[in-house]
Amino acid sequence: AHLARISAVEPQVNAFLHVDAEATLAQARAVDARRAAGEALGPLAGVPIAHKDVFTTTDMPTTAGSKILEGYRPPYDATVTRRLREAGLVILGKTNLDEFAMGSSTENSAYGPTRNPWDLTRIPGGSSGGSSAAVAAYEAPLSTGTDTGGSIRQPAAVTGIVGMKPTYGGSSRYGLIAFASSLDTPGPFARNVLDAALLHEAFSGHDPMDSTSVDAPVPSVVEAARHGDVAGLRVGVVKEFGGDGYQPGVLARFHESVELLESLGAKVVEVSCPSFSTALPAYYLIAPSEASSNLARFDAMRYGLRVGDDGTRSAEEVMALTRAAGFGPEVKRRIILGTYALSSGYYDAYYGQAQKVRTLIARDFEAAFHQVDVLVSPTTPTTAFPIGERADDPMAMYLADLCTIPTNLAGNAAISVPCGLADEDGLPVGLQIMAPVLGDDRCYRVAAAVEK
Ligand code: GLN
Repeated sequence: AHLARISAVEPQVNAFLHVDAEATLAQARAVDARRAAGEALGPLAGVPIAHKDVFTTTDMPTTAGSKILEGYRPPYDATVTRRLREAGLVILGKTNLDEFAMGSSTENSAYGPTRNPWDLTRIPGGSSGGSSAAVAAYEAPLSTGTDTGGSIRQPAAVTGIVGMKPTYGGSSRYGLIAFASSLDTPGPFARNVLDAALLHEAFSGHDPMDSTSVDAPVPSVVEAARHGDVAGLRVGVVKEFGGDGYQPGVLARFHESVELLESLGAKVVEVSCPSFSTALPAYYLIAPSEASSNLARFDAMRYGLRVGDDGTRSAEEVMALTRAAGFGPEVKRRIILGTYALSSGYYDAYYGQAQKVRTLIARDFEAAFHQVDVLVSPTTPTTAFPIGERADDPMAMYLADLCTIPTNLAGNAAISVPCGLADEDGLPVGLQIMAPVLGDDRCYRVAAAVEK
């Protein structure tokens, strides 16, 4: 049924970069055989899933949305891919994204934009926009994404689905094509909170293959999603998120959600996080700095594309020609920004300062979580914007992640859950619920309450 749905709507939505119906059906039969052989499979066995095309897959290409990796076949599965295969999920295909996960709209994909199923003239968010659109369009019941600055929560919000950024280190980065290693976090997309929790639990947990993986006991997110009880819970409204630049319809749905939580017995207070206003500039130094280092590996020798290797050119010339042809404009912008910020003489002024701001943001969260159990805000300042509207204006594009980025810098957990449609345009609005490090269960508990 999902393959038929994909065939029917892909010409309009363009959520997938790779679909192979035969391979999917073969996987499904293999899961049936495992079940018939008496293997105890988990609750998601046989359920189809779409993977963001930054998770390596041995049986499918992995491009990261870039021409530089066109046709690349990874020799190993990402931990997220492997664990979900073991749990019996069936891979429908690989989904579209902004090149190397850099963007908020999927317009930076080298393979054309994905369109929002609610309105095909609008963006589905990004960078995990293929994964959000696939689930919103009923092409897949579940999908994976990665969130470095908002790339799960923002697309979830603007397509009306649930998207969760787990605690940094709570889900493995092994086999995830790196953007900014100190921020990158794999997480789930689903159409409801319990489905997201089931998927989250199926791939998360300690992984010895990822040196930043957290090895600590965590409360069950599935149990939390089942209960959704917020009586007595202390909810903090982040004072700094709201006002100018926020769409009235987004704020209206946000305030209703806060009232709903109050009516369910939560104690709501206003909390100030003064350093959050500096998160965006700090992020746009730290993330490009890490990206400029991570993307150095695309050198025309080890992976994918190689341009100009005709026997007359030096390795450096081939490298330069390949990177010039293989990377898109946003990726180049980030490499230049990051290389500049890390260069000697500028390091302390830019990267060093940004790291200090990062510490201040983590302290704001710490202070806030002494007063409250969770923080809430709109996930995004606006609903889905029209394709093309911000394509030539990087600053306007970067603002889509205003509310999501502080969580990435501090490494804590946050979820986006649908909270209604904006009056102006009838498009979905997301509520963001932020919890302390390893407090992922609280996100699900509150999200489940809002969903009801
Ligand atoms: N939109 C942000 C960026 O472009 C976040 C992307 C992400 O989370 N991968 O960097």
